[in-house]
Amino acid sequence: MHPRLRRAPSAARARHRARGALLALAWLFTGAASAQWHTHAWTVMTTRAFVEFRVPEGASADAITQSVVDEFARINAVFSPWLESSELARVNRDAFAGAVPVSAEMFALFATAGDYTRLTAGAFDASFAAAGRLYDYRAGIAPGDAQLRAALPGVGWRHVQLDAAARSVRYLHADTRVDFGGIAKGHAIDRAVALLRAQGVAHAWVALGGDSFALGERDGRPWQIGIRHPRQAGAAPLMIPASDLAVSTSGDYERFFERDGERVHHILAPATGKPARGLVSVTILADSSTRADALSTGVFVLGRERGLQLVNRLGDVSAIVIDDHGKVHYSDDLEPAAPSSPPSAAPAPSAPR
Ligand code: ADP
Ligand code: MG
Repeated sequence: MHPRLRRAPSAARARHRARGALLALAWLFTGAASAQWHTHAWTVMTTRAFVEFRVPEGASADAITQSVVDEFARINAVFSPWLESSELARVNRDAFAGAVPVSAEMFALFATAGDYTRLTAGAFDASFAAAGRLYDYRAGIAPGDAQLRAALPGVGWRHVQLDAAARSVRYLHADTRVDFGGIAKGHAIDRAVALLRAQGVAHAWVALGGDSFALGERDGRPWQIGIRHPRQAGAAPLMIPASDLAVSTSGDYERFFERDGERVHHILAPATGKPARGLVSVTILADSSTRADALSTGVFVLGRERGLQLVNRLGDVSAIVIDDHGKVHYSDDLEPAAPSSPPSAAPAPSAPR
């Protein structure tokens, strides 16, 4: 039996439900008999992408799918710090020499990333890359202590200066580098969901690595998002009913290698430049994927106590945190619900990790 989760009502969530109810009604009257679903899976941003949607009457499923594929490729080309031709790589190269004018989209993500740095007291900080770029997880390379000490002064959002009037970015430290790996996938999903909506899609599931968004419903019921326990492969996934909800998971198992019995993974504490300890995964439920993505990374770094404190204080997001003893902790608004009926017959998409 799948454990299921119930979210306690909050003002923001009550609005959600009202919207969900309207969608459910619309769904009843549009005739379920002709419902046609389309799925597509591919690889982008070195991770798995997946989209599943109900094809609107008279629309081309292939054209809609292609628009999402193209959008993810475009975002990768703009935000990958590894592609020399990307806009972000140009900022990283030139922003210490002088302010670099950037696209509206780039400026907005810099501003949003800064908001999350302030919200998480520096736990989420895209300038972690000044230290992060010294790691190569595939090659099993981690910097030594001396190397880290030399790199750390370049980490810190105070070195990033945004000029809204000129729409430019400037770095105040020569070693500062920015990598949006902790937020760009969420941004990409939000863009994809907007694109789907604009093409008349009312029901969809979009996933990119550990980030996903459930739009509308699956055959008249909320989507069921499965969260697997990262250290208990055989355990039944925790099922989260989701409708117009972003679900993002950050884990220490996505990119890592072992050294001297320690797991060297890809979520770094900006204060030390070393992998954050204490948790193995953080799942955030939120209104937008950008928010869920940034907060899943930030809460992972903050740890169980400070992370859950932040989530409980914010009120509009929920969290499921698994510590390094395998124990699962929930934000105050979540309660595991005893399954009263067998899980929905609808296919249960699982976060593809
Ligand atoms: P993924 O879906 O790739 O597992 P996460 O949301 O868990 O992504 O974020 C991990 C990524 O975030 C890392 O690969 C790195 O690019 C970036 N990152 C690592 N540490 C931090 C940090 N402290 N603040 C912001 N971004 C970070
Ligand atoms: Mg994240």
